[in-house]
Order: sequence, then C-alpha cells, then structure tokens
Amino acid sequence: MAEFTMELNDEQKEVRDWLHGFAADVIRPAAAEWDEREETPWPVIQEAAKVGIYSLDFYAQQYFDASGLGIPMAMEELFWGDAGIALSIVGTGLAAVGVLANGTEEQIGTWIPQMYGDPNDVKVAAFCSSEPDAGSDVSSMRTRAVYDEAKDEWVLDGTKTWATNGGIANVHVVVAVVDPELGSKGHASFIVPPNTPGLSQGQKFKKHGIRASHTAEVVLDGVRVPGSCLLGGKEKLDERLARARERARKGGERVKNAAMATFEASRPAVGAMAVGTARAAYEVALDYARTREQFGRPIIDNQGVAFQLADMATQVDAARLMVWRASWMAVNGKPFTAAEGSMSKLFASETAKKVTAQAIQILGGNGYTREYPVERMHRDAAIYTIFEGTSEIQRLVISRTISGLPLR
Ligand SMILES: Cc1cc2nc3c(=O)[nH]c(=O)nc-3n(C[C@H](O)[C@H](O)[C@H](O)COP(=O)(O)OP(=O)(O)OC[C@H]3O[C@@H](n4cnc5c(N)ncnc54)[C@H](O)[C@@H]3O)c2cc1C
Repeated sequence: MAEFTMELNDEQKEVRDWLHGFAADVIRPAAAEWDEREETPWPVIQEAAKVGIYSLDFYAQQYFDASGLGIPMAMEELFWGDAGIALSIVGTGLAAVGVLANGTEEQIGTWIPQMYGDPNDVKVAAFCSSEPDAGSDVSSMRTRAVYDEAKDEWVLDGTKTWATNGGIANVHVVVAVVDPELGSKGHASFIVPPNTPGLSQGQKFKKHGIRASHTAEVVLDGVRVPGSCLLGGKEKLDERLARARERARKGGERVKNAAMATFEASRPAVGAMAVGTARAAYEVALDYARTREQFGRPIIDNQGVAFQLADMATQVDAARLMVWRASWMAVNGKPFTAAEGSMSKLFASETAKKVTAQAIQILGGNGYTREYPVERMHRDAAIYTIFEGTSEIQRLVISRTISGLPLR
C-alpha cells in the first residue's frame, strides 16, 4: 500500500507539466470556438491521440498509479484547459473503465482498442445508463435485455438519455435490466459493437455548458448482440442473479452495495475535473484583479476583492485535498466509512460553481461577456453538481453512510 502523500514524485511532476502544456497550448486556445460550435472537437482529440494523451495506455497508467494521484492530477490539468473539450477527451475513458472493471480479459482486449481507434482514425465510446425516467433512481431503469438462448444472443430494447458521446460512439456500453424483479441488482452491462443495427441516436441536447461535449439520447430497437457482449459473461451473471434472488427470498438481508462502492471510487475523478475548472477561473480572476485599475489603484487593493480571492484559493486547495485523499483511498482499497469519495465530489463541484461565479463578479462587465473565459467556465461548472450523482444524491449517500442507514 502506498503512503498518502501530497507530494508528486518527479515522474508525476513531469506528466503534470506535459499535460499542462497540452492544456495551455492546444485545449485552452480552442475552447471558445468549440463551445460556440457545440460540436465534438475531433481535431483536438486527434491531436491528443498523436501525443499519447488520448489512449488506453495513458489512461491505464494513471488509473493504476499506486499513489492514487495519477487520475486526479490528469483530470485537473485537462479540465483546467477547458471542460467541454476535456470531457470529449476523457469521455471514452469513462466507458472503458466500465469494461475494465466488469469485463473478462478477452472483452477488455477486444473492445477497448476499438473504443479509441488509432491516431489517424480516432473513435470515441459512450457509457449509457441514464434513462428519461431513471436518472438519480437507477432502479427504475426500463431498458430490457432478453436472452435468446437458441442464437446465444441478447436483445436490447429501450431508450437511454444524456449519454456522453451517445450515437457518435464506435462502441456503446449499455446497462439494461435482465431481471425486473431484482431492481438495481437485476441489471447487467452489454457492449454494443460498431454499426449494430437497431441502435440509433435520438435527440442531441443543446446544453448550458460543456458544449464541446456531445450529449444525446440513444435508442435501442431490437438490438441483437452476441452472448460474448455481456460484460463478465453469462456464468458470472447467473451466479450473481442467483445470490440476489436468494437474498430477496430471505427478506432482503442487508448487503454491501457493490455499485455504491464503485461510485465512491469513481466520484473523486469528477471532483478533480471540478478542481481544474475552479482553479482556472480563480487564476483568471487573480490576474485580472492585479492589473485592472479603478479609483487609481488595482482592484485587488480593495479588501472586498482580495478577501474573495483568498476564499477562492482556500476552497480550491481544500477541494483538491479531499479529492486526492479519496483517490488514494480508492486505489489502496481503504473502506469509505464516511463516504469520502462522495464528500470530495460534493465539495469540489459546489466549489467550482461558487468560485466561477465569484470570478465573473471580479471581472465585472468583462466577466459577463464571451470575450473572457470565466463566463464559459461558470456555465461549464454547473454540470459537476449534476452528473455522476447530483449534489443532493451525494448528501443522501454521505448521510446514510455516517448514520448507518442502508443505501438503496
Ligand atoms: C451533460 C451530461 C452528461 C451526462 N453523461 C452521462 C453519461 O455519459 N451516461 C449516463 O448514463 N448518464 C449521463 N448523464 C446523466 C446524469 O448522470 C443524470 O442527469 C443525473 O444522474 C441526474 O439524473 P436526472 O437528470 O434524471 O435528474 P433527477 O434524478 O430527475 O433529479 C432532479 C432533481 O431532483 C433531485 N433528487 C432526485 N432524487 C432525490 C432524492 N432522493 N433526494 C433529494 N433530491 C433528489 C436531484 O438532486 C435533482 O436536483 C449526463 C448528464 C448530463 C447533463
């Protein structure tokens, strides 16, 4: 087990500086354009692929970094550049983690390379869980997966919504109901391979922020996938369902919720994205406050402005500390006895919303225009309190964890 440290080692510092260079030189200058276009920034993803940032290798290296700091450090730097473009770059990784966590070695080897494509022909992947009537409440999911034993195929029917890269992905990972009696314990994940008939993109959403990231509905109409596309395989699924049925028969004995544990481990990564956006807005505001003069002196000479910046700096630092601690806990298998993963996501995302709003205030009229980036950063920051569990859901998880009440 790695000791918890706030000190990046030399190798990590080198990676951080390299990512920062890419974020400053490639991502940030492209941010305003792709925000206006509201389209996937394919040329930037391709650039990231060429230098090795958009690849499974890079993602896996950070993911398996024993210090736990690899992923949060990478997320913070990329999202410091721009949240919408960065989400277009890391969105595939989020789908890939679903396969890494639940897939067999063969599934990992077959599908993850197809999620990324290659630098001359980049592809993206999508993770489709949310539905129109199943957002925070995943147990009300309706998309069905029915096994056709004669053909060893699964048939998927339903509508997914809010899918990042939905419909434009080469590979879709789809969560569906295999046993409606078991609620969220009766779900399973499936790979939908490229060009599978029956999968189509529904509405593409016009969003408030992260507009360079594609978000859309995904319609599944009699989609047939081979048995080998069930993540983890049929045998494992049958065993898991049998255990869940047995527990249900005994009157729903309380068990550790595996899905909740996974979320605790993945939420700090979203917290790190929020830290990146918050830090970016804070830096712009600090710079502006030092140079903008009113009443014959820089506006930072007013305590009312300087103290706001002090609070912003403190909150960004506190958010990073919480995110790094939770990431270290996740990688080193520490139990989240106080839902520290959810805590870090809650605090960092609320911080990003607050700090970006303060940055607009400090820039005055300029802050309110698209000539300066803080207006975009504030729009972008609003997503962090919504996806990967809203702030209310984080509070629900934290309160149930600290009080010992069951997580449903
Ligand atoms: C840009 C974007 C990208 C996304 N990407 C993906 C993706 O790639 N894949 C995917 O599967 N999903 C994705 N999502 C979906 C996202 O995870 C959901 O939007 C989120 O889980 C909230 O669900 P909902 O929108 O249905 O809100 P609802 O669940 O309907 O919530 C509405 C409001 O009610 C509150 N609320 C609900 N239940 C409770 C409760 N028990 N106690 C207190 N308050 C409560 C919520 O906090 C919220 O304020 C994305 C969403 C967006 C906006």
